Amino acid sequence: MTLHNDIERVLYSEKEILAGIDRVAAELTRTYQGRDFTVVSILKGSCVFASDLIRRIPIPLELAFLAASSYGEGTTSGELEINFFPSGNEIEGRNLLLVDDILDTGRTLHGIKGELMKRGAREVRSCVFLDKPARRTVPLTADFRCFEVENLFVVGYGLDYAGRYRNLPYVGALKSEIFAPSHRAGASG
Ligand code: 5GP
Ligand code: MG
Repeated sequence: MTLHNDIERVLYSEKEILAGIDRVAAELTRTYQGRDFTVVSILKGSCVFASDLIRRIPIPLELAFLAASSYGEGTTSGELEINFFPSGNEIEGRNLLLVDDILDTGRTLHGIKGELMKRGAREVRSCVFLDKPARRTVPLTADFRCFEVENLFVVGYGLDYAGRYRNLPYVGALKSEIFAPSHRAGASG
């Protein structure tokens, strides 16, 4: 058994993902041409996206990380907790590009953006791999995005369910039995 067995359907294949990233990377290259900027990857979800994205932007940039978790139950996002920030000199006076895996309710990006502005960032823009506009509760639009997804819980390409599936090279929907209370990963039968 592999992780692939738990996937009901693939929404974006590896090939489609890379084509989408190429498009956004070209937009970012045009936008930041001649301007210093720092890509701030929001861990853990955006690590796969950010590493593919930055390698397609052939202009100078710096890289920083920030860890955020929303402690919700199961597949809903809850209270935002920011676990660590880049150092002060990586924020103050800088043009920051926040990179996240998915823009859902908008609370994560809204909260982080506010905090970085408070800490003296010059400009904070956002780039998301996936956008689920149907679920927005905070008025926030990503400046750059690769794909829009329907109101469905997805995994893969950095996105997890209960800590797993981040290493799938595509984006997919899980089989419904994976969410069932009786389901135990690794159990047979
Ligand atoms: P927001 O604060 O915008 O509601 O939520 C953003 C975070 O919720 C994402 O960074 C991600 O961790 C989680 N999230 C939202 N929708 C999904 C989804 O469909 N799949 C997974 N795996 N995580 C999601
Ligand atoms: Mg996340």
